[in-house]
Amino acid sequence: MRLDRSAELYERACRVLPGGVNSPVRAFRAVGGSPVFYREGDGAHFVDVDGNRYLDYVMSWGPLILGHAHPAVVEAVVRAVRRGMSFGAPCEDEVTLAEKVVALYPGCEMVRFVSSGTEAVLSALRLARGVTGRARVLKFDGCYHGHGDSLLVKAGSGLATFGTPSSAGVPAALAELTTVVPLDDDEAIADAFARYGDELAAVIIEPVPANAGLLLQRRELLLKLAALCRRHGALLIFDEVISGFRVAPGGAAELFGITPDLATFGKVIGGGMPVGAYGGRRDLMEHVAPLGPVYQAGTLSGNPVAMAAGLATLEVLEREDGWARLEALGTELDAGVRALIRRREAPASFARLGSLFWLAMQPGEPPRRFDRVAPEAAPRYAVLHRALLGRGVYLAPSAYEVGFLSTTHTGDDIARTLTALGEALAEVPR
Ligand SMILES: *Cc1c(COP(=O)(O)O)cnc(C)c1O
Repeated sequence: MRLDRSAELYERACRVLPGGVNSPVRAFRAVGGSPVFYREGDGAHFVDVDGNRYLDYVMSWGPLILGHAHPAVVEAVVRAVRRGMSFGAPCEDEVTLAEKVVALYPGCEMVRFVSSGTEAVLSALRLARGVTGRARVLKFDGCYHGHGDSLLVKAGSGLATFGTPSSAGVPAALAELTTVVPLDDDEAIADAFARYGDELAAVIIEPVPANAGLLLQRRELLLKLAALCRRHGALLIFDEVISGFRVAPGGAAELFGITPDLATFGKVIGGGMPVGAYGGRRDLMEHVAPLGPVYQAGTLSGNPVAMAAGLATLEVLEREDGWARLEALGTELDAGVRALIRRREAPASFARLGSLFWLAMQPGEPPRRFDRVAPEAAPRYAVLHRALLGRGVYLAPSAYEVGFLSTTHTGDDIARTLTALGEALAEVPR
């Protein structure tokens, strides 16, 4: 497989874009080699700028739940573009999409659209702080919530109970307002609430943590968390930027039967366009400007083209019961990968929920907390990634990223993937 044109573009890119990219994981640092430049996508496949064709399991990191360039989405977007790309004023589709979100997501009575998942999360945090009059937030090690300052925070070392910045440029004074606890650890949660419960504006969690592998949580833990929040007057925020409209029509909230106070959305909700949203109970959302004192605004918020893409995506999912199809595909992939791992006694394990999956390159049960992800998994994954890429199967260029199925993947695609995976696993050192 030749990647000359990709390499050429990457060289040009590195001169004018930091690391040659506009989002760090795209640089392929975690797996080596230079990134593949996409030329065009169609359904579950894409063609790179050198003309190589791949089966795509990244799907733009989630938004493309209907595959690349779905005809209904493209048509809706083109129709919208012809009417004008942005108004900075209300339009019909933002109302219709809001009504759809409210109809689908448990306990969501009002919603505000923004332009990214990051923006959704930082707006929801501001709202929680504004409503409660409290400053502290609690997050979990291994959850990602975008790049807002308050959440680019890791646990302090040793017995330190204050968070410390996980990125340069985040003030330590701000990081100290974030408490970080491990996932899947009831005791650590109870301790954190005993100490800080009454200072907490919000607890934010990915109910389906899918940004450091797929660290599936027990429902009882989420139930306990919800109960503790209620008892201490902290708002529970489900960050459903990945899981929303994917793991069920009503996201993880529907799946687990747990209604958060606020939820954040992104990815699927924009169908490939830059959209984020936050929503929840009316009495909370009424604190947002212009109704209330919590300021939040956006020149391109509720953009008509983006709204049309999101709306078309959700309409197709509903009309074709996309969620059932995704589950069927996921089950097929799941059974095949597990059988392969067993047969080859590969140092790997497989976690899956619906159309989200994670091939953890470590034996045993897949981990449920970030500090249980084995350090030797990443170099193994790099080998696997290269071996699959050479066979036309595009997995995320990082051991810590999950895979995404779309409704356009087929049984044949999965069969081809399993053949390639069998060969690739044979190349992975033990
Ligand atoms: C992707 C993601 C974000 C950030 O969304 P962007 O659109 O990349 O800013 C936030 N939270 C979760 C759970 C995500 O997966």
